[in-house]
Amino acid sequence: MFRISQDEFRAIIQQLDMAIRSHEEWFSALNRQMLCRLPFDQRDLHGNAHRECLFGQWLYRHSHPALREHPAFGSIEKEHQSMHRLAARVLLAAREAGSARPEDYDRFSNALQRLRLEVQTLKRELETTYYNRDSLTGTFTRVGMLTYLREQLELVRRGSQRLTVAMIDLDHFKPINDTHGHVVGDQILASVARFLLDNIRPYDRLYRYGGEEFLLSLSHTGAAEALAMVERLRSGIERHAIVTDSNDRLHVTASFGLVEVMAGSSIEEAVHCADQALYQAKLLGRNQARLWTAGHARGAE
Ligand code: GH3
Ligand code: MG
Ligand code: MG
Repeated sequence: MFRISQDEFRAIIQQLDMAIRSHEEWFSALNRQMLCRLPFDQRDLHGNAHRECLFGQWLYRHSHPALREHPAFGSIEKEHQSMHRLAARVLLAAREAGSARPEDYDRFSNALQRLRLEVQTLKRELETTYYNRDSLTGTFTRVGMLTYLREQLELVRRGSQRLTVAMIDLDHFKPINDTHGHVVGDQILASVARFLLDNIRPYDRLYRYGGEEFLLSLSHTGAAEALAMVERLRSGIERHAIVTDSNDRLHVTASFGLVEVMAGSSIEEAVHCADQALYQAKLLGRNQARLWTAGHARGAE
């Protein structure tokens, strides 16, 4: 989902709207044809009607590759195909016998309802993601962050997972802005965020916490594993060349403060401890990760 740009998000949401609307219109037209015994559109009887309708053309030929990986996409595709098959059956019966069996008509119209529900659910999910994303970096904004982290903490309390949270802050970012200007600063920020998003797991979440500060939530991850993961991110950022619009190749580093969130702790306490660990990482020279453990921060050693 993160690979979808804001513009693409908007386009996808419009396409899903179009899918709902065009199938409503199509359904009304089919009913009119059947009730008034008008000739059917032959395309509705074809085995590949689901590929040829307006939505089908988008689904199979023009939809975004990242969207195709979404679990809802597969079930929409299946539901859509089966709905067109049921429609063809009803139409054939109406043409050949003068009427369709009521149970076939019901199956067709139920399939259309299920499709509408699936498409609407996906659309709502995409809208939530779209509205809660930071336009510069593509990460989540802080809206919904506490709610999400509290849900994650609840799973820790039930013993179903371990959770580690990392605060990430770019090093010496002010001088970078001063030297190269705010526009280049923005490009660097966006590029580092992109690198992070490309290198975390699908169930991790990255939030823009403040200006050049991010919060990374690592579900199903204890402290040691998180430290190793974050170390890979840290060295990755260090090696990551940022090519600016004026073709300069710039490098930045980042510091990380981590804390494993314990069942007895609150999210606010955990974030505070991660902040303390980050502060330690800065004090110790930056470009490093420190883990908060019972009263002090330690590194990967
Ligand atoms: P360090 O964190 O290593 O201690 O040094 P720093 O220079 O990064 O320090 P600090 O956190 O105090 O400064 C953050 C700077 O980040 C201040 C501001 O100029 C810059 N900054 C924050 N948000 C943005 C942004 O959205 N775009 C750009 N270009 N710069 C930003
Ligand atoms: Mg900084
Ligand atoms: Mg900062």
